[in-house]
Amino acid sequence: MERLIFHIDVNSAFLSWEATDRVSNGGADLRLVPACISGNPKSRTSVVLAKSIPAKKYGIKTGEPIGAALKKCPDLIIARPNFLLYQKYSAAFIEICRRYTPIVEKYSIDECFLDMTGTSLLYPDFIKVAYEIKDTIKSELGFTVNIGIGPNKLLAKTAGDFEKPDKVHTLFWEELAEKFWPLPIGEMFGVGRSTAEKLSRNGIESIGKLSKISLKTLKTILGDKMGEQLYRSARGIDDTPVLEKPPAAKGYSISTTVEKNITDKETALSLLLSLVDAVSARMRAEDNRAWCIAVSIRTSEFKNSSHQRKLFSPTDVTSEIYDISKALLSELWNGKTPLRLMGVALTDLTKDTSEQISLFGEASGGKKRDIDKAVDKIRKKYGSESISRAGAFKENDRIGRKYKAEMETEE
Ligand SMILES: [Mg+2]
Repeated sequence: MERLIFHIDVNSAFLSWEATDRVSNGGADLRLVPACISGNPKSRTSVVLAKSIPAKKYGIKTGEPIGAALKKCPDLIIARPNFLLYQKYSAAFIEICRRYTPIVEKYSIDECFLDMTGTSLLYPDFIKVAYEIKDTIKSELGFTVNIGIGPNKLLAKTAGDFEKPDKVHTLFWEELAEKFWPLPIGEMFGVGRSTAEKLSRNGIESIGKLSKISLKTLKTILGDKMGEQLYRSARGIDDTPVLEKPPAAKGYSISTTVEKNITDKETALSLLLSLVDAVSARMRAEDNRAWCIAVSIRTSEFKNSSHQRKLFSPTDVTSEIYDISKALLSELWNGKTPLRLMGVALTDLTKDTSEQISLFGEASGGKKRDIDKAVDKIRKKYGSESISRAGAFKENDRIGRKYKAEMETEE
């Protein structure tokens, strides 16, 4: 049976969600004025994470430093990121989608796929139901989405990127020649900048041109795997299923830029403990353990370095992660060079909870894991400031926490 897939994408999500929240509290609508979401404008590292359409008209781009954006538009309104708010609206719009089909895949914080295959008895007119989903989100939640419809995820997602905002588009087989093949190669899903450059150096500038190149030639240009994938994509072929549960996170990371450079070990270690504490709690909340721990630093001279260590058994215990992180930091840093950034990453995740018995007969983690559980529970109930580890960095306002997974820039 031919599949029917919807791709739903919130228009300028972060900006739109902030605006929605302000409007619901009687504030002005940021979507109608030059506005953006960014970190502290006084900080050297803040960039534009999302922008309004009027801000776009000033030439402001997602990902550019906030200082440069302010030069283009001195009246730019800047709102700080609010991930709790984003999570709330993300969950709310996905909940509305679930009213229409049980098979919903959350693809990112502001995008999901719906498998609508076999719903034709329930919804004889799928275009009509797409408009209904879009308008329900708008009237119940106050923000707009684009919906792309196609026979698979690739074509639905591509259709969702056509004209914005607040639109429904289709991309079916019979529409490839008109809507898909004229697109520049860089707009094809799965084609990054370097692949696009390789293709255009070979005279392949559009998806249509790509669809005329033989598999053998593509493999020569791009390698076997990528060549084969793009050979199929250019023809609109994509068999990947809509997965109700997104693939497990690849890792957790946290980093912070300090406003005053760190020049002593004591401060560095207390900041490190705060970072480890926050990132490991996040990993535990999703029942993961890490096989690999990495610590990264940036000096005041903008020199970046990082060290990582593979473990003999995966862990989710804060004190174990902290001990290894301390060792990694001392390999990286002499304790004197001024530091402006520090980060911790936990990767190579597993759900495996079998305990590894150490050489000395003691199960690793046990008691310490109970302590972590108790701390996580108290924080869940009373908030993250309710309890802190002895020695952790106390001045939370000096820490600009950044969760990489949630900091994806968006268009
Ligand atoms: Mg979006």
